[in-house]
Amino acid sequence: MHVARIGFIGLGLMGRPMAKRLLAAGHELKVFNRSKAPVEELVRHGAEAAGSPGEAADKSDYTILMLPDSKDVQGVVLGEKGVIYGAKPGSIVIDMSTISPAVEREIYKSLKQRGVGYLDAPVTGGTIGAEQGTLAIMVGGDYEVFKEAEPILRVLGQRIVYMGPSGSGQMTKICNQISVALSLFGACEALLLASKAGLDLDKVIEVISSGAGSSWQLANLGPAIVNRDFRPGFKAEHLMKDLRIALEIGQELNLPLPGTALIHQLFKSLAARGEGALGTQAVVKVLEDLARHTVSRSSGGA
Ligand code: NAD
Repeated sequence: MHVARIGFIGLGLMGRPMAKRLLAAGHELKVFNRSKAPVEELVRHGAEAAGSPGEAADKSDYTILMLPDSKDVQGVVLGEKGVIYGAKPGSIVIDMSTISPAVEREIYKSLKQRGVGYLDAPVTGGTIGAEQGTLAIMVGGDYEVFKEAEPILRVLGQRIVYMGPSGSGQMTKICNQISVALSLFGACEALLLASKAGLDLDKVIEVISSGAGSSWQLANLGPAIVNRDFRPGFKAEHLMKDLRIALEIGQELNLPLPGTALIHQLFKSLAARGEGALGTQAVVKVLEDLARHTVSRSSGGA
């Protein structure tokens, strides 16, 4: 196997397990993160610590980003001591965060002028997919650059699809997030009704999950809702950001997205309660407030 030198920036819920997989596959990693504890954790796994994003990119064949939002990626790539000042011509920067497609196209142009390849390669599959290397990855950018980066992406994901020019990966991911948010909304409402009607919630999840009403959201987050486990696999504030981007794109394209607008408002209400850092399943709390009913195994009813 060819050992690659990889810079990795953004060691949060997703970035940490992804970086560990790359190390376990035998690659050399230089890591950077805003807070230091995750850097120390990766150093214990054999990575080297970088003092800035530019230093992580310096001498790296690939630099991978896994950051929250558009402004974070812009700052890390184009800002002071940014990736653009370290990345050598011929190397490839891969942004795996979920951000605005328009911002990706700007960054792509800036890096291309310096001879550096740039891919937007957002992922889906959650922290479990990140740990197991089973993410789905949707990629935008130059096809030759994609082919060169594909062996590295294969360490992280199972289904890797080239979507087209720069920004296409993010555009696909935003479509994915609309589907995620609205199926989560469906799962929450179904559980609320099941609870109010006094049904056995475990049986409800089991039987619905094997038929036409099944969804990843219901199967994976339904049990968490019933168990009142709101710890984040995917933070509500990140899905709220994705829905914001979807609505901005809808505005540009003059496309009505009524379901997206509604669920975005519910997430804003969750954030207003100071609970944006909880997992996305916590949006059920907003619906519970409207209903004056809490999803619970013990509630009587029908
Ligand atoms: P997170 O909030 O857990 O982690 C983000 C990390 O980036 C943190 O460690 C933070 O310290 C670091 N960071 C933030 N700004 C920085 C900066 N300027 N410089 C250096 N480091 C910085 O987020 P996450 O759940 O890992 O998600 C990352 C991205 O992946 C987001 O765009 C999210 O929407 C997307 N995503 C998340 C999931 C999921 O299930 N968690 C799944 C698919 C995609």
